[in-house]
Amino acid sequence: MEIKAIRGFNDILPSEIRKWQFVERIAREVFEGFGFSEIRIPVLERTELFARGIGESTDIVEKEMYTFLDRSGNSVTLRPEATASIARAYLEHQLYSFDPVAKLYFIGPMFRYERPQKGRYRQFYQVDAEVFGVGNPMVDAEVILMLMHFLKKVGLERLELHLNSLGCRACRPRYREDLRNFLKRKTFQLCRDCQRRLQMNPLRIFDCKVQTCQEAIVEAPRVIDFLCEDCQIHFDKVKEYLQMVGLDYILNPRMVRGLDYYTRTAFEVVSYHLGAQNAVTGGGRYDNLFKEIGGPDIPGIGFAVGMERLISLLPNERHTISRPHLFIAALSGEPQKEAYRLVNQFHLEGIWAELDYEGKSLKSQMRRADKLKARFTLILGDEEMRKGKAILRDMDTHTQEEVFISDLLKIFKEKVSPQKSTPS
Ligand code: ATP
Ligand code: MG
Repeated sequence: MEIKAIRGFNDILPSEIRKWQFVERIAREVFEGFGFSEIRIPVLERTELFARGIGESTDIVEKEMYTFLDRSGNSVTLRPEATASIARAYLEHQLYSFDPVAKLYFIGPMFRYERPQKGRYRQFYQVDAEVFGVGNPMVDAEVILMLMHFLKKVGLERLELHLNSLGCRACRPRYREDLRNFLKRKTFQLCRDCQRRLQMNPLRIFDCKVQTCQEAIVEAPRVIDFLCEDCQIHFDKVKEYLQMVGLDYILNPRMVRGLDYYTRTAFEVVSYHLGAQNAVTGGGRYDNLFKEIGGPDIPGIGFAVGMERLISLLPNERHTISRPHLFIAALSGEPQKEAYRLVNQFHLEGIWAELDYEGKSLKSQMRRADKLKARFTLILGDEEMRKGKAILRDMDTHTQEEVFISDLLKIFKEKVSPQKSTPS
């Protein structure tokens, strides 16, 4: 039987890869322009990093992790998100000893054991950015500005920035109690998961996708009404700096984010092309994460953009599949050998040329040149070749001319500028 990929694990095919490369290139350009450096972290980590970092009572740790014992009996987990790993790397390699402020970004796959459906997979990619070592609200607005700039440069329109504050260790417990007391009266409306969440971590109920749970929280108390003075000042400053950098936002007191480590600023960006899915991206401040994973008290803020959801929103036409610069259609024998020599010479110059390996008829070679959408076709026949010549056909204008084979490389170097992978 034919072996198929595992459900929820996708191939990214050549026909889509341009969009991926485009998004990754824009991410690198934008982030590096904001002073971020790339970091690459392992796919596998000790389970406790996520259990402690993300929080035991989160959806991710409770039911979405790919956790298994390796051959030595150690519990390991495929990373479900990047922040905890990047924080671990920052501590482990003492990146703070050079400069306490670290701006890092990462692009790579994450793994979550969720029910696969459109826009939700078991392996999916994130573009992730983090700033460690600054508690100042200036950085909150700076990171959000970078995110919005990135999304706009990629081509997304009709974006909404949702903003909330989740308080801190000092003020959130009081809110949590109040929320619990409110929801206790609505226990009958809550799904079984949320009845358990009510005990463990009632804030999680905001993230529940069950309709009756959503109804139960409509009039729930809002975390921003419980902020302590420091958190209130921080939140006001974030709003002030957002205004300074020219960003509009929507206050969304029900957006609490699914990870335990968030404190104070939380944000999501929602796009209206998205249909049934949730946000393309989310992030926030996490001033407790480092302590949770055994480090010193270091503040952090960051975001993660879901690549598949982002890419599903991009228009197709701007990222068309690439086409060969040249197809060489040659008669078998000497002309085919000449074609082979030319193709390899062209490739060494970065010019994409194709030929027919099978000695098919000229007619079927021309059909293939058409199918590949080659920009030019070179026709090599016995007679012309004896004169050192060939026919060069412009496939877009349908005109052709006789050219010297010895001039070809020069002609194409002029036609193909080095930056462009596809001639226009
Ligand atoms: P959701 O509420 O949709 O489950 P989340 O809060 O779990 O999202 P985060 O952990 O904040 O998501 O991850 C950031 C982004 O990664 C999301 O906004 C989304 O675009 C993407 N993402 C999360 N889970 C998946 C998945 N299983 N498949 C594809 N993309 C995902
Ligand atoms: Mg989720």
